[in-house]
Amino acid sequence: MHTKIIATIGPACSEKHMIQRLVEQKVRIFRLNFSHGEAADFEPIVANIRKVEDELQTGLTIMQDLSGPKIRAGELKESPMNINVGDEVFMGPSGEMDRFEDYLPFDHPEILHVLKKGDEVRLSDGGLRFEVQEMQGEVARMKADNNGIITSRKGVTFPGIKASISALTDKDREDLSNGLDMGVDAAAMSFVQSPEDVARAKEVIRKKGRWIPVIAKLERQVAVNRLDEILKIADGIMVARGDLGLETPLSSLPTLQKRIIGACNQASKPVIVATQMLLSMVSNPMPTRAETTDVANAVLDGTDCLMLSEETAIGQYPVEAVKYMREIAEEAEKYFFELGISPVKPKQQKASENFIGYGACLLAQNIDAKALVAHTESGATARLISSCRPVQTIYGLSPSPDTQKFLNFSWGVIPVLIPEEPHDHLQRTENFVNDFSGFMDGDDLVITAGHPKPGVDRSPTNLLKIYKK
Ligand code: PGA
Ligand code: MN
Repeated sequence: MHTKIIATIGPACSEKHMIQRLVEQKVRIFRLNFSHGEAADFEPIVANIRKVEDELQTGLTIMQDLSGPKIRAGELKESPMNINVGDEVFMGPSGEMDRFEDYLPFDHPEILHVLKKGDEVRLSDGGLRFEVQEMQGEVARMKADNNGIITSRKGVTFPGIKASISALTDKDREDLSNGLDMGVDAAAMSFVQSPEDVARAKEVIRKKGRWIPVIAKLERQVAVNRLDEILKIADGIMVARGDLGLETPLSSLPTLQKRIIGACNQASKPVIVATQMLLSMVSNPMPTRAETTDVANAVLDGTDCLMLSEETAIGQYPVEAVKYMREIAEEAEKYFFELGISPVKPKQQKASENFIGYGACLLAQNIDAKALVAHTESGATARLISSCRPVQTIYGLSPSPDTQKFLNFSWGVIPVLIPEEPHDHLQRTENFVNDFSGFMDGDDLVITAGHPKPGVDRSPTNLLKIYKK
């Protein structure tokens, strides 16, 4: 299985025996959702994951998902409030509530200040849409585009508006800092708007003397518009279809998913498809036909990871959901290889490292190699090879535990932590091949490594070797 599965932890799967069952079904990354808790709540769960990791001798990655600035309305005078199409509703600071009949208290001046006539306002369930008719100071007079109900503390979205809100809130900073102390291996940022947002999280991590990958969750149109810039700094991307689907027309979500995945593949950065993948399995032992198709199509679109949310966190069938996801992904991969487009030629081949990854895949294909084995300090070479989607499994060998944990996100890569010794990278790699029981004598392996010139200490990947065990 080449595609990676991420399971969100929650009451339905936080016990050790449940974590173990999920890992047996090929979950390699666990997501801690900080929208529903803080570091202290997750401590026993982290301990359980680490125990399973030790017992099964399988590297598991813990991804902390920061809640970000989810924008919500305040407490209504009377909840729920029934809205009919054409109704006028006012929205503004709670202090002004008594001046109006139908009023949505909303204490985000930074948004009220940039809101203008003609802007669209959506309530989180996606059901209700309003158009701003005019601004009366800080209060917006809005007209309902459809029928629906509003309840207190509903999430509100403003498609396309870039408010001067950092995606890293004070709570996120504290959570991230505590998460790092707890030993999380990756962080996901919600409602990213700009590359600067990602830089802020990276700064917090750097100040703690750590490095972990930062995954930018694409849930805002403004972030989608700046994907190329965000991809330069983020270590990975999540297509967060839940919130993204509130900002973009649902009809364009499938093609948007394809475009985002395509851009990530080209940048050889891992990408995750998330939300409602097998949602009906929260209460049913089998998925709908449409859900099975959605999972398969995400794989065929080129995603690295598939994510489960409520299905594993609060669902009645967490193990079954992962099992279905795994089986559907395996079938989709089989079909992908039948199409015969693997290995995929990278679009940008100027950099020699870029081409060496593709060259390794071509070689592996033509000699029908048993596997690809890449020595990779930062993981970059393993990711380049992964983005070519070769049939062969890619063993990503690194002496860095951070790289080992990060490579769990990359399609087709089995991360392996190797000793720093001997100094020579090629020798280290051949040692692994010789010792590894998964390879038999006579197997052909395609190896990539960095072999420096005499007198130089290290080199980017510049060597491609056929090694017969
Ligand atoms: P969430 O993010 O589950 O944290 O909201 C995913 C999404 O919005 O799809
Ligand atoms: Mn979200």
